[in-house]
Amino acid sequence: METKSLSELREKYKSCTRCSELLNSRIQVVFGEGNSNAKVLFLGEAPGLSEAKQGVPFCGASGKVLTELLSSVGLSREDVFITNTLLCRPENNRNPEKVEVENCRERLDKVIEVMQPAVIVTIGNFATERILGKKGITSLRGKVFPTFIAGREVKVVPVIHPANYLYNGRNPEIFAQMKRDFEMIADVIDAKKKQKSLGEF
Ligand code: URA
Repeated sequence: METKSLSELREKYKSCTRCSELLNSRIQVVFGEGNSNAKVLFLGEAPGLSEAKQGVPFCGASGKVLTELLSSVGLSREDVFITNTLLCRPENNRNPEKVEVENCRERLDKVIEVMQPAVIVTIGNFATERILGKKGITSLRGKVFPTFIAGREVKVVPVIHPANYLYNGRNPEIFAQMKRDFEMIADVIDAKKKQKSLGEF
C-alpha cells in the first residue's frame, strides 16, 4: 500500500499543467514506481517514450540496465522508489529546460519530504544538479555527498546515467565503473541499516 500522502501527491500531479510545452505532447505523467516506504530514492532525468506510454519510470532500455545494476548488488526495484527530475517527457527526449526543472521542484521536494529517504541516488547530470546544485557527473560519481535536505542528513550518491552507457555502444568499461558505483550504493545502504538498529535509519 502506498503511503497516504505519496498517493495524494500522485493524484495531485496527475493533472499538472505547469509546463505548457510538455503538456502539449504529454501521453501521461510518470509519477514514480517502487516501494513507497523505501528509504532509498533513485532519481532519473525525465521519462522517455516507453516510460510515457507505460506510466512507469525506467521501463525502457535504460531501465533494463538500471534493473541489472540493482540486481548485481542484490537489490530489486521493489526495494527502492524510482522517480525523475521531470514528471513529463520532453519531446524527442531533449534535455530538460531550467524552467521545467523549477516547475517540478515543489513536487520532488514534497516526495522527499513524505518519503524521508536516507539515500538518494542521482542518475546522470540533471538529477545530480537538481539535488546537489553541482554539475559534472564524471567527476561527481564514485563519491558520497552527505547533504541536508528537508532538515535531515541524506547520503546523495551520483551515478552515470545508463543512457550514457548505451550511447557509448555498451562500453564494458563504463558498465564496470557503474557496477562499482552500485557496490558503493549497497555499502551506503548497509551502513545506514546498521545505524537503523541504533534507531537512526
Ligand atoms: N531515463 C530517465 O532519466 N528516466 C526514465 O524514467 C527513463 C529513462
